[in-house]
Amino acid sequence: MNDLDRSHDPARRSWVESANGHAEFPVQNLPFGAVATSDEELPEVVVAIGDVVLRLAAAFDAGLGAGLPIDPAMAPFLLEQLMEESPETWTALRLELSDALSDPAWTPRLQSALLPRAGLRHVLPVQPVDYTDFYASIHHATNVGSMFRPDNPLLPNYKWVPIGYHGRASSIVVGGTPIRRPHGQTLGPDDTEPKFGPSRSLDYELELGLIVGGTNALGTAVTAEAARSRIFGVSLLNDWSARDLQSWEYQPLGPFLAKNFATSLSPWIITADALKPFRVPMPVRPDGDPQPLPYLQVPGDHTWAVELDVLLSTAAMRERGDTPFRVSRARFEEAMYWSPAQLVTHHGSNGCNLSSGDLLGTGTISGPAADARGCLLERTWRGTEPLMLPDGTTRRFLEDGDEVTLTGRCVRDGAVPIGLGACSGTVLPA
Ligand code: MN
Repeated sequence: MNDLDRSHDPARRSWVESANGHAEFPVQNLPFGAVATSDEELPEVVVAIGDVVLRLAAAFDAGLGAGLPIDPAMAPFLLEQLMEESPETWTALRLELSDALSDPAWTPRLQSALLPRAGLRHVLPVQPVDYTDFYASIHHATNVGSMFRPDNPLLPNYKWVPIGYHGRASSIVVGGTPIRRPHGQTLGPDDTEPKFGPSRSLDYELELGLIVGGTNALGTAVTAEAARSRIFGVSLLNDWSARDLQSWEYQPLGPFLAKNFATSLSPWIITADALKPFRVPMPVRPDGDPQPLPYLQVPGDHTWAVELDVLLSTAAMRERGDTPFRVSRARFEEAMYWSPAQLVTHHGSNGCNLSSGDLLGTGTISGPAADARGCLLERTWRGTEPLMLPDGTTRRFLEDGDEVTLTGRCVRDGAVPIGLGACSGTVLPA
């Protein structure tokens, strides 16, 4: 924890009054997003602070960031430029932002660079170059495994190798984008032949997305020592999954059309710098479990203390103005068998070129308790234990019109709490 700096100081306050005591975006957070302010202009990078956002290019015009290796003339690509730079540069820009937003002397220069946050049209902060999804929560892997293989829930490789699959980058959408129910091929339990039609088992998956910074040349491995410096930040990620398509298609090569029809990423990237006060050690591996192979032993490894909720709001609930129903709540730091840096290390261990803007999903985040299960497949145990909503309706899987919202927050003694924002999506009919 000795690399905390004045940007993490709990006593630091902003001249943006709404930031002080803000549940998600105090001056200690400063996440990056991108908004489209008009149809003609390219999207621009913004930083959330309280109830407003700071337009980064306008802040550069006002004198911020002078001396940093970032060209403000390339304004739509400020984040891409930043992520290519070293973590020291990431920290330097954060310090400039934090200093300027907490020093009233900057108010006259930055006031005109602020926009109200409500009603902004978000786009993806970075367009992921590539997307990989892991399976790193041991509770999720054990639950899902026990549904399909009651005698042998965890396959022998699980405690040795971080399991993942390559997802599809082009169908990643920003949170708030509606999700069309996919068609696909399914084989029902009593069917002798598959049929093609709308998925009847549409699900969400609560995940964090790690946003990679920097680039390693193809053929040059990412070492455990370097892995932590390759995590630029995190966003909430919903890996929408059609379970009926998945169960028919997944053998022997893993998920394909069951998952590549859409993946939602929340509008804000919470930087690794902002998460520093919330670093905690990884859970101790139980007696009898293997130690990670040497290449996966990350010096000073950690995870983050993040509380994550899944909220469900049906069309009828929204019509009545009901509060969304909390389906589950999990703690990230309890759920994972592999740390964020171990996922990066493993992905790059074969010389795979990870690039700025690559997205690594953690896999469904499920805690040990039943109400901490991060997808409906687990929460309703394959639909056998339907979820009872407050209005008496039930859910096995998602219905048309259902809105799923993921939220997250970091809380720890001695630190100002920060939020991850929200990642929402509403299911459209097939
Ligand atoms: Mn997933």
